[in-house]
Amino acid sequence: MAESQKTVALFGATGSIGSSTLDLVLRHPERFRVSILTGGRNVKLLSQLALRFRPDHVAIADEKLLPELRDNLASEGASEGAGEGIEVHGGDAAIADLARIDADLTVAAITGMAGLMPVLNAVERGGVIAIANKESIVTAGALILEAAKKSGAVLLPMDSEHNAIMQAMVGQKPESIDRIILTASGGPFWDWSGEQMQSATPQQAVNHPNWSMGAKISVDSATMMNKGLEVIEAGVLFDLPEDRIRVMIHRQSLVHGIVCYRDGSMLAQMGDADMRVPISHCLAWPDRLDWQPEPLSLDALASMTFEQPDPDRFPCLELAREAMRAGGLAPTSLNAANEVAVEHFLNGSIGFLDIAGLNRHILDTIDHPASLALDAIISHDRMVRKSCHEWLAQQHGINR
Ligand code: NAD
Ligand code: MG
Repeated sequence: MAESQKTVALFGATGSIGSSTLDLVLRHPERFRVSILTGGRNVKLLSQLALRFRPDHVAIADEKLLPELRDNLASEGASEGAGEGIEVHGGDAAIADLARIDADLTVAAITGMAGLMPVLNAVERGGVIAIANKESIVTAGALILEAAKKSGAVLLPMDSEHNAIMQAMVGQKPESIDRIILTASGGPFWDWSGEQMQSATPQQAVNHPNWSMGAKISVDSATMMNKGLEVIEAGVLFDLPEDRIRVMIHRQSLVHGIVCYRDGSMLAQMGDADMRVPISHCLAWPDRLDWQPEPLSLDALASMTFEQPDPDRFPCLELAREAMRAGGLAPTSLNAANEVAVEHFLNGSIGFLDIAGLNRHILDTIDHPASLALDAIISHDRMVRKSCHEWLAQQHGINR
């Protein structure tokens, strides 16, 4: 291995963040070697990636697909024995265990609470962990920070807004920060009326104007729960209270985050709406990667706009603020409710506005314990999901 080559363990390799990460790895084979690849259910793509990148380990979350993954690695590929030397695993526990293996950089790009155990195990091990999986921070932020403090792990935010804030904070003292601003594109429904949103389809919701992302985060962008989760995420990562984290709608998605200092200076990070910009920052950190992106056109900056979000049409943003102010496991409750709601919206069983409805119901009716222990988080998450299914059965006649 070349001296400067970093090993990269990629959790969630078959998704949108995963493929952008691998695109950068492919451009810089001398800098990066993939050591672990994991996927959820897309066994075909995961097999192709494994044959192409030849990691030490590959794992699929859905255990039923393990034989297919094995077969693909044994028989597919350009040359005979192409999959040799790659250890193959299946199941959630195996994926979580792989996060204990040393890697120079761990990329957490699984979607949802399913990403929590790999993140925690990687953070407990130490090293550098780039976190795209915001749900793990929302649901278990304090635990992750505590584990990082113990192990000395470095957490790099890969979410574009948080990555921007991190970049705009370099070399500054926390006490000189007045507030931060996270920008939001507003999603595909930013100018839709409540009535129009009532009949919004999954296809319309995932059709994001600026970013190409996985289905769950695309729906979260349409409800603006994504920005709500990001406010909570920023509170954890930058140790700021909710009222010092502002959100501005910025339709062009060119400015990603702004840090406002007490002396009146505002430092912003800008870049094209391309996740490879924050991903490359994490991959190369503390250096910079020259992956030769098109430079951001300064002409584009001439038409930048900023406006306040509309809390009436996008109630999820305020729900997240409420959960953050409530503290304890309230963010865990909201995250769990939102995951269940989005899944049911995507499979067509509830309407777009029911997502906020279920989130509101859970936040208002469930007790949110103060304990931040792992067992408490996991059992609370399960309990909330069960309550969601009761609500879905009562309100919509949906029985699993
Ligand atoms: P995606 O749906 O495209 O990919 C998710 C990945 O996780 C896939 O590899 C999938 O197979 C895997 N996965 C899904 N369920 C799993 C399970 N139960 N167990 C194990 N693996 C599972 O999602 P994405 O857009 O790449 O987003 C990934 C994470 O990054 C999310 O938390 C999202 O909020 C965050 N994020 C994404 C973007 C973006 O531009 N896509 C930007 C910022 C943050
Ligand atoms: Mg983001």
